[in-house]
Amino acid sequence: MWPGHDLEKGLGGKLGTGSLLLRALSPGRRDAERAAAMSVDGTVRSAAAVRHLIVVLGDQLDRESAAFDGIDPGCDRIWMCEAKGEAEDTWSSKQRIAVFLSAMRHFAAALLKRGGRVDYHQTVESLGDRLRGELQRRSPEQVIFVEPGEWRVRESLVAACQSAGVAFVERSDRHFLCSREEFAQHARRRKQLRLEYFYREMRVRHRVLMVDGEPAGGQWNFDHDNRESFPKSGPGPVPAPLRFEPDDLTQTVIDEVREAFAHHPGTVDTFGWPVTAEQAYQVLDHFIAHRLPSFGRWQDAMWVGEPWLWHSHLAVALNLKLLAPATVIEAAEAAWRSGHAPIAAVEGFIRQVLGWREYVRGIYWMQMPGYLDLNALQASQPLPPWYWTGETPMRCLREAITDTLALGYAHHIQRLMVTGLYALLYGVDPKAVHRWYLSVYVDAVEWVELPNTLGMSQFADGGVMASKPYAATGKYIERMSNYCEGCRFRPDRRTGPEACPFTTLYWDFLIRHEQRFSTHPRMALQVKNLARLSDAERGSIQARAGELRQTPGLGDA
Ligand SMILES: Cc1cc2nc3c(=O)[nH]c(=O)nc-3n(C[C@H](O)[C@H](O)[C@H](O)COP(=O)(O)OP(=O)(O)OC[C@H]3O[C@@H](n4cnc5c(N)ncnc54)[C@H](O)[C@@H]3O)c2cc1C
Ligand code: SF4
Repeated sequence: MWPGHDLEKGLGGKLGTGSLLLRALSPGRRDAERAAAMSVDGTVRSAAAVRHLIVVLGDQLDRESAAFDGIDPGCDRIWMCEAKGEAEDTWSSKQRIAVFLSAMRHFAAALLKRGGRVDYHQTVESLGDRLRGELQRRSPEQVIFVEPGEWRVRESLVAACQSAGVAFVERSDRHFLCSREEFAQHARRRKQLRLEYFYREMRVRHRVLMVDGEPAGGQWNFDHDNRESFPKSGPGPVPAPLRFEPDDLTQTVIDEVREAFAHHPGTVDTFGWPVTAEQAYQVLDHFIAHRLPSFGRWQDAMWVGEPWLWHSHLAVALNLKLLAPATVIEAAEAAWRSGHAPIAAVEGFIRQVLGWREYVRGIYWMQMPGYLDLNALQASQPLPPWYWTGETPMRCLREAITDTLALGYAHHIQRLMVTGLYALLYGVDPKAVHRWYLSVYVDAVEWVELPNTLGMSQFADGGVMASKPYAATGKYIERMSNYCEGCRFRPDRRTGPEACPFTTLYWDFLIRHEQRFSTHPRMALQVKNLARLSDAERGSIQARAGELRQTPGLGDA
């Protein structure tokens, strides 16, 4: 453990101005002290002096967090920890690790600047073990934390406090517009959960896009005006996204990640994500000015070489809590009220943030911990290995996975209707699919990733999240993108060597789950189409699907 003043001397005025906490330490000492705590307020610590130990997790970088209510810098300490094992457990991509570490270090530096007393740890232990050790050493009167974003992490914090015999208080996360209790109340009133009802309630409760008690524009939903595909000529000029040159602190993180996590997927060469609240606000402003007006219209469209399109790229800033959803919603609504953006685009966007984002969180906390083990379709195939490289001749998957690994980003339809759809039709074990999504995206935090993956995209929850599986042939991808041009496969073929694997596997999916879905109100029609197939055709589809599972690589890309 370093005396705090040593560290402060090393860092001096650099803190908060873009220099890294660790850089000021000599390399030998840095290595030796990886598992030690950094006290960065310049005071020698005294265990007896600590009243509250305030735990701030990597996805809780919220300046207005309830964790800081009533904080007294004279006797309270903020506790942050980079636990290397967390990145190993989920096999995080380099880009995801870098965004978390850089944002955490910037946040710690900003807290210090505001006069906070921060203990910043780096450890190879688990988060829980590190905290337990710290509690035993320091014996604070109480630990305070805000609801974590992951069930396992919450359990580990609680266990650490209990085994150290320290009282703890868990505060509600007011970043969200619907508390866990409010969602539970909403759920209690319904036989079946559906986004649409929840979303309308949220619009009314928070008076968002409401005019004289009625939905703005006279309707709740503008989906029919949204979700077009691009013309043959493509999207035309797409506004360049706002990306940030790494400052010194981020650059040091990038260097560390390259060294310490060299074997992890993806790259940090393209890193440009917002890592501070100020940068997050800039991304929001940029989105409102340049992308929001076309957001809904092209929401579901995909195009080779265009990963960003008119999406907001805000999920990472929101999920790290650098940005509040209320701010984002207010800015979008103001753009409609001022005539800058049409109602269809603004409603389509607000539906995602006020609707889907809050809804999936509610489902996560209602369903955990059992949710993680659900596997309604009894899918058990391993994830094809090329999900980690993008080396597949299926052009849609190659594009989506290459974007993902290069940027830590792919937009919703690439996630749902390309990578997710293939895993669903192929029959991949939902836990393996979940692990992949949690690893590769910069915005991946379990409360939002798991219901989207396991529920929406894999139907492993049997219909809690989505009213039916998102199952489609390659013709859907052909309609919504230009991926199929120049692909060796043909989306209209279901058998034979040229058959699009999505199309083959779609029919195989219906055959495999015929019984289950033949009476399903929203799937029965799709299943009925099986009647058009002769026994021989069924046999050929199943044989080809078997081959695809035998040779997941399908030859060289
Ligand atoms: C299989 C799968 C896994 C996903 N994993 C994640 C994840 O780990 N983290 C994550 O934030 N989102 C996840 N999503 C939802 C969605 O794909 C991303 O939020 C979105 O692509 C992020 O890009 P963006 O910020 O440009 O979003 P935009 O398209 O600009 O949408 C605006 C915002 O709305 C919110 N949003 C949109 N769709 C959803 C949704 N389905 N659920 C919750 N919030 C939504 C996000 O905060 C997003 O930033 C996943 C979706 C699927 C199908
Ligand atoms: S033909 Fe099939 S595999 Fe090829 S890009 Fe189209 S949908 Fe994807």
